[in-house]
Amino acid sequence: AAGRELLSASDVGRTVARIAHQIIEKTALDAGEPDAPRLVLIGIPTRGTTLAARLTEKIEEFSGVRPALGSLDITLYRDDLRSRPHRPLERTSVPEGGIEDALVVLVDDVLFSGRTVRSALDGLRDLGRPRAVQLAVLIDRGHRELPIRADYVGKNVPTSRSEDISVLLSEHDGRDGVYLHQE
Ligand code: 5GP
Ligand code: MG
Repeated sequence: AAGRELLSASDVGRTVARIAHQIIEKTALDAGEPDAPRLVLIGIPTRGTTLAARLTEKIEEFSGVRPALGSLDITLYRDDLRSRPHRPLERTSVPEGGIEDALVVLVDDVLFSGRTVRSALDGLRDLGRPRAVQLAVLIDRGHRELPIRADYVGKNVPTSRSEDISVLLSEHDGRDGVYLHQE
């Protein structure tokens, strides 16, 4: 079943553009501030990395400044690694110029317990010491188990634990859209 539509294809596009504007506004990226931090977007594979790449394009389009782009596989940093099914490691790519003293925006598709983000913070520690770290997610579905919140949220979706959200992105799925499924 296709599930209930939460975001149409055009909603996904508008939402990514809105988050790009919010990042520019919050970081005063276009204000020409001499000691403004260098902006680095780091996606959590797979779809977080794709969203980070799209945000990079939009931020450049709207502000004229192109953020550095990287991705961070968090598999090795999960505290529940042993209880999860084995899966191959995803790519980690360190952004050009590293993350030292940068403003890092972590990007993921869905925020749930917060454990992935906690792991990503551990992973960042091995790459350097950013000036600050923020979080952008397309969907916040609630059920946090850690004191973690997102700075930029595409859509808040109250869910039950038995529900599941599919995030379709054209780069992977042939089209954009977000759907809610009952397991
Ligand atoms: P957390 O670690 O916060 O519990 O879960 C977030 C991670 O698991 C994200 O990387 C996200 O891709 C994935 N995830 C958790 N719940 C869902 C969901 O309902 N749908 C999708 N597509 N991914 C989810
Ligand atoms: Mg994920």
